Amino acid sequence: MQQNSKPVDDSHQTPKTPGSPGFEPARQMAYMRRAVKDNLSRKIQAMLNSCVNCGMCAQSCHYYCSTGDSDVIPVKKFEKLTRLLRTHFHPLKSRLPFYGSKDQPDEQMMAALYKAAYEDCTLCGKCALTCPMGINTGEILSLARAMLCSIGRLPSGLVHPVETAFEVGNYLGLTTQDFVENIEWIAEELGDEIGVEGFTIPIDKQNAEVLYIPHPLEARDLPFLLMYALKILYAAGEDYTVSSYDFDTVNYAYYQGSKDNMMRIARRMLDAREKLQARSIALAPCGHGYRVMRWEAEKYLGKRFDFPPVQSIVELIDRYIHQGRIRLEKNKYEGPITYHDPCNIARRGGVIEPPRNVLHALTSDFVEMQPNRARNFCCGGGGGLASTGDFGKLRVTAGKKKAEQIRQTGAKIVATNCFNCMTQIRDLSKAYELGIEVKSVVELVSESLIM
Ligand code: SF4
Ligand code: SF4
Repeated sequence: MQQNSKPVDDSHQTPKTPGSPGFEPARQMAYMRRAVKDNLSRKIQAMLNSCVNCGMCAQSCHYYCSTGDSDVIPVKKFEKLTRLLRTHFHPLKSRLPFYGSKDQPDEQMMAALYKAAYEDCTLCGKCALTCPMGINTGEILSLARAMLCSIGRLPSGLVHPVETAFEVGNYLGLTTQDFVENIEWIAEELGDEIGVEGFTIPIDKQNAEVLYIPHPLEARDLPFLLMYALKILYAAGEDYTVSSYDFDTVNYAYYQGSKDNMMRIARRMLDAREKLQARSIALAPCGHGYRVMRWEAEKYLGKRFDFPPVQSIVELIDRYIHQGRIRLEKNKYEGPITYHDPCNIARRGGVIEPPRNVLHALTSDFVEMQPNRARNFCCGGGGGLASTGDFGKLRVTAGKKKAEQIRQTGAKIVATNCFNCMTQIRDLSKAYELGIEVKSVVELVSESLIM
């Protein structure tokens, strides 16, 4: 796989492995220069030049709050990129010896950049809400990821899923035949549960109101989770379909830092909708997948989609309750229940009240974390950390702040709306002995449905 899938010219093409024949430092510099050119927006330039060194961003970053390590204060992290850009990529300063300029960045500089970009920042964007200058370190470090990705220097856990998505169409490598068989099996099980003989789940139905895109992990390993979502769509009388061409909300290329790779995966979903002429797209619980399809893809294309904004399933559920299309048994679950806002759904996605409306509809014992909504702390599993096997210990350490937040609520159940967040919070529960259950909002709703 080329780390950038849409080469513009030869200098944009990257070999599979850094250090492979022909991958000499001069070429690495050419790739990184191209990445800087493609990704250094005016907004990022302004942010890089606006810091007043007040240090206020420290307390907003879960890494610093969890470890107290001054090296992970947001400003300290993006300074690693600022220094590199000034000494090696600035059109004038990179030629001036007193700026410490050398032809190539040394290994220490590159290793520090890699650590800041891929390990020490989940791109959660919380620091931007605290910084008086509005500096978003996550957005800045996305540029660092783009540079590192362009030379093939990225976590192994972010390479294979993207290669597989390119080759097979989804990051798990699930074949269409397996997907269809699994859907048919789910239909049988669901039919038995709701007592409808010959129950079917529409696959590749033309002109449906909603194209529902599952998470392939549901389709392969956790079919009961997919069943929960499909049961809700059925109960609401939704005119929906699933696609046998695209059944993957996930887009790990976004975390690689490669916008070209990200769009290559996103296009498959857009093509699936186009083929079926579905009116809209709704996504399974997946934070970064939502971020890509709701905001990033349109930004990349420079135009609005010619169909309604992509929705997360939790937004559909909120509407169904509001319209009286589904009814829920209240207090089926013993509380207190709290809600973890996935960064890419809430702060960076704008979906804040819908999950709360839904949870208030199914429990009288809802309790907020402090802080919450857009200011909620990242769980520590974002940025690709929970999705790869590379960073288990690191993300549990960085998630200490989230564990403290959860403990303070006294909640028995933590509900959320993202698979990666669920994985991370379960790991936090084990590591910090929180004694909680972690559930998807979809599961809580599905189990509380009055049919
Ligand atoms: S984006 Fe999130 S993880 Fe990254 S520096 Fe800011 S607060 Fe920390
Ligand atoms: S809060 Fe903003 S201005 Fe202050 S140190 Fe952090 S990045 Fe710089």
